[in-house]
Amino acid sequence: MAAPQTLTNLIDGKLVPPTTGRYIDSPNPAAGATHVLVPDSAAADVDAAVAAAAAAFPSWSATPRSRRSALMLRIADLLEQRIEAFAAAESRDQGKPVKLARSMDIPRAIHNFRFFATAILHQEESVTELDGVAFSFVHRTPVGVAGLISPWNLPLYLLTWKIAPCIAAGCTCVCKPSEITSLTAWMLCEVMIEAGLPAGVVNMVFGTGPAVGSPLVAHKDVPLISFTGGTATGEIISKTAAPLHKKLSLELGGKNANIIFADADFEDAVTTSLRSSFQNQGEICLCGSRIFVQEEIYERFVEEFSRRADALVVGDPTDPATDLGALVSKEHMEKVLSYIEIAKQEGGRIVAGGHRVVDGAFANGYFVRPTVIVGLHPTDCRVQREEIFGPVVTVTPFKTDADAIAFANSTKYGLSASVWTQNGQRAQRVARQMHVGTVWVNCWMVRDLGMPFGGVKQSGLGREGRHHSMDFFCEEKAICCRL
Ligand code: NAD
Repeated sequence: MAAPQTLTNLIDGKLVPPTTGRYIDSPNPAAGATHVLVPDSAAADVDAAVAAAAAAFPSWSATPRSRRSALMLRIADLLEQRIEAFAAAESRDQGKPVKLARSMDIPRAIHNFRFFATAILHQEESVTELDGVAFSFVHRTPVGVAGLISPWNLPLYLLTWKIAPCIAAGCTCVCKPSEITSLTAWMLCEVMIEAGLPAGVVNMVFGTGPAVGSPLVAHKDVPLISFTGGTATGEIISKTAAPLHKKLSLELGGKNANIIFADADFEDAVTTSLRSSFQNQGEICLCGSRIFVQEEIYERFVEEFSRRADALVVGDPTDPATDLGALVSKEHMEKVLSYIEIAKQEGGRIVAGGHRVVDGAFANGYFVRPTVIVGLHPTDCRVQREEIFGPVVTVTPFKTDADAIAFANSTKYGLSASVWTQNGQRAQRVARQMHVGTVWVNCWMVRDLGMPFGGVKQSGLGREGRHHSMDFFCEEKAICCRL
């Protein structure tokens, strides 16, 4: 096995070791052995990175949009040229199948840069006139140094979803990727240097949440924080950021409902539900982990869905035949397995999967079979209420539209929902009553970056997306001139 790769921070355009001299072992989840050493950075590294970002801000914010755009397009082109290396690294670091990283994670990261690089070239502004007395317009200026904190499930995809609008808007940033999956963020540092991005515009400090994330959130020279991660961490961040009146964007956990009416296209609903349940091992905040099926088709759905779940291939992430790779870490696998035990205690019946896979060359990896649970109360048990974030779904029958809506809205989360029906009016009626930020009708994970993205209730605060992200990274000033 190759020696572990040692990562460095990116501060002021230079790849530098952490001031602590310490590193965190990061295992390859499919093999269970350390493959990357992640800098175990501290507040001193954050201070240096914020100072570099603050020094770069005046020049970067004054750089013409066309130049900012060209640099971002260059980053996207370099990523595209290295898509195979990035896909392989993302898979090795996170556990997902290489084919998924190649078809989703890395292309979407490239698209994030291209989308915002071109969006800033076509910004529309409006002027309003007040009764012949005055005219007004909005003047936008980038806020300053942003703190960007991202999770481990879609490492490069979600980090670039923050970096791209941030630097397009003219802000500079200090990024704090997840210490569990830091490899592709570090590879991106090399790409940004090669693309010619000026020193200090994007800085990257690797390490744990308490040691790096906390001082970044509390830093007096960081007026805005964009965070994606768990709801519990979001609460901690809010407690620090709110009294300092920082701009705050929080993309948090989910427990999304997938409602399938008897009049749905059955084949389509089953095929897409397999994806929305188990893609990326169920480690996508948008996965539909609670499936509600109208009682007329419930038995048929459970039989077909569990049969196909059992047929999914779990194993070597580099094998093109693999559907599910490894869970991200041993701790996370144990958490997921514990919820399968809780489901049994709560009266659930496992109709597919339900166990770890310990198989040959992958005996030390963190593999769990796609698991389908039936027989649980629709709302009143932990497995229906708490985010598991793994390849585990519940399937529960419902009678009426009102039941489906009540079941779907019964958790503290409100990120997304899917509705399957061929009745357009019903789709509209139900979608409008979902307490979530995104509803997919007869589809899942179709992403239009122009649309607002975010959660309600405990799933978040604020929206990301074309205008929403640009608004977040800019201050708006109203200028009113007398005629
Ligand atoms: P997490 O909250 O444990 O960590 C997210 C990031 O926050 C990491 O970089 C971590 O190091 C950092 N962090 C931890 N403690 C911190 C602190 N005190 N101060 C500042 N930063 C801190 O989340 P995770 O386990 O990496 O990711 C899984 C969670 O993310 C799930 O709940 C999932 O639903 C959520 N998620 C949400 C979205 C969305 O768009 N809403 C997208 C992906 C993942």
